[in-house]
Order: sequence, then C-alpha cells, then structure tokens
Amino acid sequence: MTGDVWSFSENAAVASEVALAAEGLAPAVQGGPVVVEVGRARDGVRGGGERLVLQGCPQDGPAEALAECISRAAKSLGPAIILVGATREGREVAARLAVKLDVGCLPEASRISSDGKTVSAERSVYAGRVSATLTSPLPCVVTVRPGSFAKSTGATGTVRNYDAGTPEVRVRRLGSSRRETGSVDLKSAKVIVSAGRGVKRKEDLPMLEGLASEMKGALGCSRPLSSDLGWLSEEHHIGLTGVVVKPDLYLAVGISGQLQHIAGMKDSKVVAAVNTDRDAPIFQASDYGIVGDLYQVVPALRKALSARH
Ligand SMILES: Cc1cc2nc3c(=O)[nH]c(=O)nc-3n(C[C@H](O)[C@H](O)[C@H](O)COP(=O)(O)OP(=O)(O)OC[C@H]3O[C@@H](n4cnc5c(N)ncnc54)[C@H](O)[C@@H]3O)c2cc1C
Repeated sequence: MTGDVWSFSENAAVASEVALAAEGLAPAVQGGPVVVEVGRARDGVRGGGERLVLQGCPQDGPAEALAECISRAAKSLGPAIILVGATREGREVAARLAVKLDVGCLPEASRISSDGKTVSAERSVYAGRVSATLTSPLPCVVTVRPGSFAKSTGATGTVRNYDAGTPEVRVRRLGSSRRETGSVDLKSAKVIVSAGRGVKRKEDLPMLEGLASEMKGALGCSRPLSSDLGWLSEEHHIGLTGVVVKPDLYLAVGISGQLQHIAGMKDSKVVAAVNTDRDAPIFQASDYGIVGDLYQVVPALRKALSARH
C-alpha cells in the first residue's frame, strides 16, 4: 500500500518528535510525511513535508472531536500510517481514530518500520525488561512514545487546509485549570539526582537538591516520595508511571531499583547509585555504585564538588 505518513500530537514538543518518525517511515510507503494540525498551523512544530490543517475542529479537543476530525480527513485523503504522540490525550485520540477507521492500533512504539504492506512497532513491556514487536496491516494507527525520537528540525512544509467540519461531540468541557508544575524539567536535564525511600525525612531533601544544583542538574525521585509521601510533586517521579528520562548522569540515592523505577531511567548514559544494601537491584543497573549511608556519602560528594570550584 502507498500513501502518506501523518503525524499528530496536541503537544507541540511531542508533535516535532512524531514528525521525525513520520519522515523516517514515509519512503517505505512511497509517500510523504504530513504534519496534521487542528484549527491552525502552530509555531514551534517542526517537520518537513506537508502541513495539513483541519479547519473547523476545536483546537483544544476533546479527544472525541480530534479523532472525529482526523478520521474525516483520513477517509477522504487515505494516509497509509497515522502516528499519534502517546500523551494522555493522544492515546485516546489514537484509539478512537482506529475504531472510526476500522484499522489496527499499535501502542507506545519506540521504533517503527514498514515493508510497504504492514507496519511493525517495537515497544517495551514488563517494565522495560522485554521488547515486543507488534505488526499490523496498512493502513494503521500507531502511538509513539514521547522521548523515543529526536525532534524534527525539518523546515515546515506547505500548508494545506482541509475543511473537517465541526464535529458533534457528546463530551462537554466544563472548564480547565493549569496544574502547578513549578520549574522541573527532568526530560532535558543532563544530570539527575534522584531521591528514594532511603531518605528518611522531607527536611533532608534540600541536601540532595543542593547536590543536584552543584552538578547543574535537577532533582527527581522514586514514586513513593511523590505519590505516597507527597514530599515532591508528581512531575519529579521517574519510572513506568512517571517521567522517562535519559540524562548523561543519573545518580540514584537511596533507591532500591525496582523494575518500575528502572523502566524510567535505564537509558541514562551513566548510572551511579548510593545504597546501604550491597544487594540492592539498583546496583545491577548501575555503572558505578557506592555502598554506603547517603547521609555520609551525599555531604562528602558535595564537599568534594565544592572543593573543585
Ligand atoms: C503499577 C506500579 C507502578 C509503579 N510505578 C513506579 C514508577 O513509575 N516509579 C517508581 O519509582 N516506582 C514505581 N512503583 C513502585 C515500585 O514498585 C517501588 O515500590 C518503588 O520504586 C520503591 O521506591 P524506593 O526505591 O525509593 O524505595 P525502597 O524500595 O523502599 O528502597 C529504599 C532503598 O533505600 C536504601 N536505603 C535505606 N536507607 C539508606 C541510607 N541511609 N542510605 C542509602 N540507602 C539507603 C535501602 O537499602 C533501599 O534499597 C510502581 C509500583 C506499581 C505497583
């Protein structure tokens, strides 16, 4: 089957990543990459090829409306593959879209390929221990795991407007408010110092924060510190159900290294860990390890770092 490869995400940063995935796939289906936009072409979204702007569709969703508009355009223009960023909203858009188009939906892809008849998507399962490859005939919808592809730097292509009409939706948005997120940007941090249950009190966190800032890095944590104890906000939590990070250096402090945590940091360039338990699983995922009490090791590391300045 031949056709274009569409890419869509309601999140501008993810949209540029999905666009790059589309650029890579397009030659396999003898089509071009197309960035799908809703309502208007956004600044900040990169990606070569055409920019298909769906007129009439509400820019802020809900997913039901987005899926309806994209499906209307897809039914008339016939893309071979539709890539959707696997954000919370994107997952719902993709699932609804696949049902409307009566095609397969491959979830959470970190690598995608096509032989022109089928599309294959690689995704990690069992908290990153196993990589599964799923295949579906074309046409197909694939959700793309954010952070799996670099962002496209391609010049934005020509804009083509498509009148998708205003969809009738059953979901009504009653209001929305921005969640307090502070200034944590773990995804782009080069160094992350991550705190686990080995930290005994919330009042001890500034010690780790200080270490992170001396290394020009950011503070992250295991899930219990954010979700159970509420010491840090959810945006700090790394792992399967949190943020997936790939810093140059990941320093796990007082973290045991359960599968669900490892899934979020295993692609870090260098992993180092501090733990009193020499058998803690985190050491198996580490390049460097210090068996020791964080209350001694962290101040010693800070002292050594400040002596270098
Ligand atoms: C569906 C599901 C999803 C999950 N998703 C996530 C996720 O996304 N991210 C995540 O992190 N977890 C997740 N979890 C929880 C996960 O299974 C673990 O419970 C959690 O990661 C453990 O956090 P921890 O390592 O900080 O705590 P613990 O497992 O309690 O480990 C604390 C470690 O600190 C060490 N320690 C104690 N005192 C000191 C000291 N003074 N100095 C140095 N070391 C010390 C101990 O030896 C121990 O290894 C999930 C669980 C489920 C069921």
